Amino acid sequence: MSKVAHYLQEHLVGEVSASPEVRRHFARDASILQLAPAIVVYPRNESDVRKTASFCWQLAERGRPIPITARGGGSDTSGAAIGSGIMVVFTAHMNKILELDPKKEQLIIEPGATYDKAEQTLFTHGLFLPSYPASQQYATIGGGIANNAIGERSFKYGATGDFVEKLRVVLANGEVIETGVLSRRELSKKMGLSSFEGEVYREVDRLLEENAELIKQMSSGIRAKRNSVGYNLAQVRTQKGFDLTPLFVGSQGTLGIVTEATMKVVPYNPLTRMVMLSFDKLEDFQDTLPKIMALKPSICDMVSRGAIQQVIKINPHQLDGVLPAPAAAIHLFVEFDDHKDSAQKSALKNLKKIAERADAYAVVAHDLEDQEKLRKVRESVATILTEPHGQTKAVPVAEDVCVPPESLSDFLMAVNKIYENAGMKAATWGQAGDGVVRMHPMLDLAQIGDRQRLFKIADAIYAAAIKLGGSVSGSAGDGRVRASYGVYMYGEQAQGLMKKIKDIFDPMNILNPGVKFSTREEMRTLMRSDYHQAHRHEHLPRS
Ligand SMILES: Cc1cc2nc3c(=O)[nH]c(=O)nc-3n(C[C@H](O)[C@H](O)[C@H](O)COP(=O)(O)OP(=O)(O)OC[C@H]3O[C@@H](n4cnc5c(N)ncnc54)[C@H](O)[C@@H]3O)c2cc1C
Repeated sequence: MSKVAHYLQEHLVGEVSASPEVRRHFARDASILQLAPAIVVYPRNESDVRKTASFCWQLAERGRPIPITARGGGSDTSGAAIGSGIMVVFTAHMNKILELDPKKEQLIIEPGATYDKAEQTLFTHGLFLPSYPASQQYATIGGGIANNAIGERSFKYGATGDFVEKLRVVLANGEVIETGVLSRRELSKKMGLSSFEGEVYREVDRLLEENAELIKQMSSGIRAKRNSVGYNLAQVRTQKGFDLTPLFVGSQGTLGIVTEATMKVVPYNPLTRMVMLSFDKLEDFQDTLPKIMALKPSICDMVSRGAIQQVIKINPHQLDGVLPAPAAAIHLFVEFDDHKDSAQKSALKNLKKIAERADAYAVVAHDLEDQEKLRKVRESVATILTEPHGQTKAVPVAEDVCVPPESLSDFLMAVNKIYENAGMKAATWGQAGDGVVRMHPMLDLAQIGDRQRLFKIADAIYAAAIKLGGSVSGSAGDGRVRASYGVYMYGEQAQGLMKKIKDIFDPMNILNPGVKFSTREEMRTLMRSDYHQAHRHEHLPRS
């Protein structure tokens, strides 16, 4: 073990490892990149995290910076859950539900707990956290907050950040702060502190005040409903007050390390109604989508013809008996979960009328068994993610684009064309109601040609999304893989403002450096040639 690892082991309650095997394991997340940490720390409590940060800060002051990367389930697809310095892994010990108050509908939880774990407890109280991503079995609350994760029910309920009430965060120098909405008086008090926290409040307030116009312009330029690129500057100073929480949400561990989250939760209704609508033409789907969205479904997800064809190509009998219209351009899965049965019935009636007028083929699930069949179709895209085809594998690139829902069919047509030009067929799916489109091109990253194709496809897809007022990332974050596209979305000046925010929180660039601010060339040097998701097979992901 290195001197640094020995020092940390001496001062922390949690374990410290510099074993090559452990480092190799944490060298990868779910992205196409790899970068091995020098040391892995498994904190047992907040004090361990605080001490690690403060130690790295002191080293940086002496001109020997060691980066810190927080890590949850490692399912990040943007290359943000890897780092070369100390990796702080929360899943080992800091994974507990600390408090659940069913009356207040509030959950206090440690960052290393998975969404699944939270859900299991919440369900027993008739509650749930509706922003769970498809990776909920292994994705943690800390990772979900850091990426502002969304899921199938986000259309109705919102993203993970919408459920965060307050956070405990370890700052770059090891100080601990608690975020939450502050009145002007409370803010003044914070700004008066002589600590690093005081400096952060003073500097952020000043910067946002000076750039209020620019921030307004940035927000109006992007019409996507979900956007995880850069930092959420627009939500810090609002009518409600001043709150640093929205800055930490989606910040991918680059501004601070979350050690505890207070989350709002909502009542859960397991008795839902589900319908699959199959559209032969993209135009009919686009015309109908707003009418369906107006019915406020809890799920409004799509799977394209290309994705179904890809599943059948890999596994010819997987959809036997569950997919009556295999050649449809789009299958849309709509669910209603209103607590009043009469509201569900009425929404379903209206949906059937809309489907009839649009000439869409509708399959209504009459019972749980029928619902399972529809879920089998929707979740079949997992086959694309986990099964290789020849030497090629589904590569997470442009897998999380978000466009305004009214431009969805234009975007899907553009994607089809881009894939055709690359000599491939597009397989797309996603959250239609939110305008989130997912796709993983089948490529062999060992081949130089395919590595080049990957960038060509990504560039063209991101350009098409930006042109439509969309975002290159709706939820998974810009990380390293998409860091170079932020400037095309926001422009130089706004991107410069994001960097100033980073500099306020992390003046010595210790917290997950390279994430959100790196060049294409820096990213390329970290690319893997053997992309696979074998370690995820035990939790077959849904989408
Ligand atoms: C098959 C598959 C399906 C997916 N489906 C979805 C989906 O439906 N919706 C969606 O939004 N995403 C999805 N993702 C992406 C990913 O699962 C989510 O972004 C998830 O929230 C990441 O959680 P994690 O615990 O794995 O975090 P990690 O991958 O470990 O980390 C993610 C980021 O959070 C930071 N971080 C982790 N813990 C902390 C902390 N305590 N404090 C500060 N920063 C921290 C890390 O440094 C990193 O930048 C999917 C990924 C896969 C592989």
